[in-house]
Amino acid sequence: MLSNPPRIAIVGVAGRMGRTLVAALDQDAQVKLAVGVVEPGSSLRGADVGELAGLGKLGVLAVDSLADAVDEFDVLIDFTAPRVTLKNLAFCAEHGKCMVIGTTGLGEGELAELDGYRDRVPLVFAPNMSVGVNLTLKLLETAAQALGDEGYDIEVIEAHHRYKVDAPSGTALKMGEVVAESLGRSLKEHGVFERVGQCGPRSDKEIGFATIRAGDIVGEHTVLFATEGERIEITHKASSRMTFAKGAVRAARWVSEQPPGRYDMQDVLGLK
Ligand code: NAD
Repeated sequence: MLSNPPRIAIVGVAGRMGRTLVAALDQDAQVKLAVGVVEPGSSLRGADVGELAGLGKLGVLAVDSLADAVDEFDVLIDFTAPRVTLKNLAFCAEHGKCMVIGTTGLGEGELAELDGYRDRVPLVFAPNMSVGVNLTLKLLETAAQALGDEGYDIEVIEAHHRYKVDAPSGTALKMGEVVAESLGRSLKEHGVFERVGQCGPRSDKEIGFATIRAGDIVGEHTVLFATEGERIEITHKASSRMTFAKGAVRAARWVSEQPPGRYDMQDVLGLK
């Protein structure tokens, strides 16, 4: 039986998204921030998570092991790294917890591993939790279907801050997948992730990706449909991590009432 409001644990609470999640949870009376987890052995163990987020004391002290807080939360929000996330997913399956996963950069094998938990854990997994990006995915589907499989060259351009470790971004890949799927193409076959030297002209069906890493850019994505005489650009720009954090909190509230299954933000937002 879950608590009402659901009690939330944030793993990676000292990270960029972790600290923003603390602030988002603090603003939402329909959820309760119960646990913050830092890396094992971290000097931040015992720190007040409110102070880590620059909010002053909230009375929740960081632990460095989920096992230490197993009875204190219902939903785990995880924005860390692929191997850490998969370990936490196994923990959630074992202990009957729900999970919201924002971590990106999972390889094919890791995605398959994650999918293996769909019958055991109510789990929302989305490379981008912002409402605007998820609406943009819907717009891309409509654009791709309307423009059809011929005549328009499709390119995905993304920009992020200098610390991001995976490329192209999970969101850019998701945008490429949505467009490819709408056109009956396979991104595996038609995705082009590098152009250098004498690489020749583009083919009709390829979907190209370009990546920018610079400064403090929170996240920008453009999908370009170009043909002779015109081009359409669909762009989303995030100016604050709060948009991802608010989406993750909304997902945590939603998933706390779901049976086991693998869901995404389109499910959470009722966009399917
Ligand atoms: P970050 O490096 O600032 O934070 C990650 C945190 O995880 C660090 O504080 C690190 O100490 C912690 N961590 C690592 N191993 C741990 C462990 N075993 N136990 C507890 N904590 C551990 O990174 P970030 O910018 O916050 O991004 C984190 C992930 O979230 C990345 O994969 C990023 O791409 C993704 N992201 C997703 C969205 C989305 O909407 N889905 C939005 C932004 C970022």
